[in-house]
Formats: sequence, structure tokens, C-alpha cells
Amino acid sequence: MGTEHIHIIPTAEWLNTDSKPLIIAGPCSAESESQIMHVAEGLSKSGRVHLMRAGIWKPRTRPNTFEGMGVQALPWLRKAQEQFGVKWMVEVANEEHVKAALDEGIEIVWIGARTTVNPFSVQEIANALEGNDIPVFIKNPLNPDLELWIGAFERFSKVGLHKLVGVHRGFNTYQDHVFRNSPNWEIPIELKTKLPQLEIVVDPSHIAGKRNLLHEISQKALDLAFDGLMIEVHPNPDAALSDPKQQIALDDFTSFLNELENRKTHFVDAVSIDKLQRLRSLIDEIDYNLLENLKRRIDIVDEIGLYKAESGVTVFQLERWIQIIEDRLQYAKEQGIDAALVKDMWTLIHNASIKRQTEIVNKNLSERDTFDA
Ligand code: PEP
Ligand code: MN
Repeated sequence: MGTEHIHIIPTAEWLNTDSKPLIIAGPCSAESESQIMHVAEGLSKSGRVHLMRAGIWKPRTRPNTFEGMGVQALPWLRKAQEQFGVKWMVEVANEEHVKAALDEGIEIVWIGARTTVNPFSVQEIANALEGNDIPVFIKNPLNPDLELWIGAFERFSKVGLHKLVGVHRGFNTYQDHVFRNSPNWEIPIELKTKLPQLEIVVDPSHIAGKRNLLHEISQKALDLAFDGLMIEVHPNPDAALSDPKQQIALDDFTSFLNELENRKTHFVDAVSIDKLQRLRSLIDEIDYNLLENLKRRIDIVDEIGLYKAESGVTVFQLERWIQIIEDRLQYAKEQGIDAALVKDMWTLIHNASIKRQTEIVNKNLSERDTFDA
């Protein structure tokens, strides 16, 4: 299904600025009034944040762990908002959360990864928010399912909420990896391709799971031209009640941002544009050569197919396939080309060839049947 009907209003129209990257920061969880006031003061003084975040209802994997401070934290956020002039956003996971948050003056919410997976919950939240012109940030679902993520945008857009932003927080993996959640950058990039007007911020904290990987992921997010970062910041991360390993210290926040390089998303000067044009025309020429060669290969594959049909020989020849793949991989290695890419490409090409030859053999057989009859 297409995505043209999903209407999105850009952040520049509802945040007071169009400066990029968008920076959202704050603790994983609101823990006390003094913690919230301290963070709000530090972050607003840094002059670098567009919005602040804090979880007050925490979706925890196991019960009997810290499940958030709940509604009692809402007045802390409201007070900090009034005092320091930066808006707080909170995670909402059901209708009750939405009502409580709206009643206490929260003006922006986000949908967590454990909620986006469940269309019933997403619909419940969308219905509860209907009629309130409030921005909704939607984290990707835990599992790498782009349709499910798009479905969530669709549900909010359908009830008239159009101030929508994506949050890429990585995807669950069963086994432990370097990252807590696998980034699978191709998925949010595909989302951008399908919904070009959508802004997506990256949540390096939940992708990394560890402080020391935050810089690498944040830089990658900026290099890939994502629209911003959502970073967990805590006055004393090691003592945090949730996600202690991945939060950065409030005191380190400004230097963390300063160490990131903001690359331009486009070439601006004439010389660079000229060079880019030339290189792109070379790429175009190479692509046409590849396609011409592919066409020549297909013609020969057809000729062999006919030959196999006439000689009554099987289409698939295991030794030949083994020889092709070994030979191409060896050549790729010598040329320094990624072996996985070559393997994927030749598997696709070989499968397509087998399919064509099978069609040729079947056609030949049915023609022979007609002739024999
Ligand atoms: C969070 O932002 O603290 C959180 C629970 O994130 P996620 O939904 O991405 O796991
Ligand atoms: Mn967290």
C-alpha cells in the first residue's frame, strides 16, 4: 500500500526553530523533582536542546523492577517546563497515560518501541489523542518490521494528528551483540524513501546500550543525514534507576555534542558540484555497461537453455554452480570487493538464469508434446 495519504507537518512549523540537528535530551526516567529540575537547568543552559525527554511509565522487561514514578512526576515536568522554557516529552502507552499527561500540561508525547509493535495500543493512543493538536514521536517497533512502523504513522495521520516524527532506536536481537539494539540503518532509510517529508531522529542511547558507543552511533546518524538525536542524559548515570550503562552525565553533555561533526547534506560550491556531476556521469556509464553485459549474459543463458532442452539435460548443474561461485568469490577477493555482496549478486543472477532455462525447457517439452500428439 502507498503512503501518499500520510500527511506530515515538518517540525520547523511547530518548533520555534528550523535549526538542525534536532536535539532531544533528558534522563531515561524521571526519578525525583530535584533530578528533573537539575537536568532541566543544565540542559537549557547548554542552549543546545530543542526538547527534553523523561519516561514516567517505564515498560520493563521483568516486573518488580523500577516501573517509573507515574503521575506524581508530571507536576515536576510542568514546573521545570515553566521555569526553564523547554518542553518535556513523555512516553505514553495507553489511554490512561494520554489523559494524565494532557491534564498535566504535557504538550508532546512519544510512542515506545514496545507499543509500536501492537496496533491495538497504537490505535488506542491515537483515539485518545484525537482532537488535540499535539506532536507525536513514534519509535520503531522492536522487531525490524517497516510496515508496522508505517502503520503507526498512518493511524495517527488518520485521526488528524500530523505533527509526526520518527525515532530510530534500533531493533531487538536475540543474542547479545556489540549494540544493545541492532541499528539496521537500511530500515529507517527506506522509511525516509517512502515518506520523504518525515523527519527521523536517531536514539543512539538505546541502540548502543553503552556510553562508549554513543559517539560512533551519533556521528553515523549525522553522516547519514538523519534529522536529529535523542540522547539519555542523567546527573549521575551510574546511580540511575533505569538504563544506567547508556546514559551520559549531564556534565559531559555539551562536550559530547561538540565532538560531533555536523556534515553538510549537500554540496554547495560550484567546483564540488561540478566534480560530483562528473563522477555521477561515470557511475551512469558504468551502470549501463553492467546492464548491457547482463543482457548479453541472459541471451547466452537462453541459448544454453535451449541446448539443454534439446539434449534432455537437467537445468541445474551443481558442479557448475559451485565452480561459478568459487571462481567469482576468488576474483572478488583479489579485487578487494566485498565477498557477501558478490555472493548475493551471483545467487540472484544464477537463480534468475535457472528460472529462465526452466521456462525454456518446459516450453520445449510442451511444444514436443503437441508435435507428438
Ligand atoms: C526509553 O526511551 O527510555 C525507552 C523505553 O525506549 P524504547 O521504547 O526505545 O525501548
Ligand atoms: Mn531508557
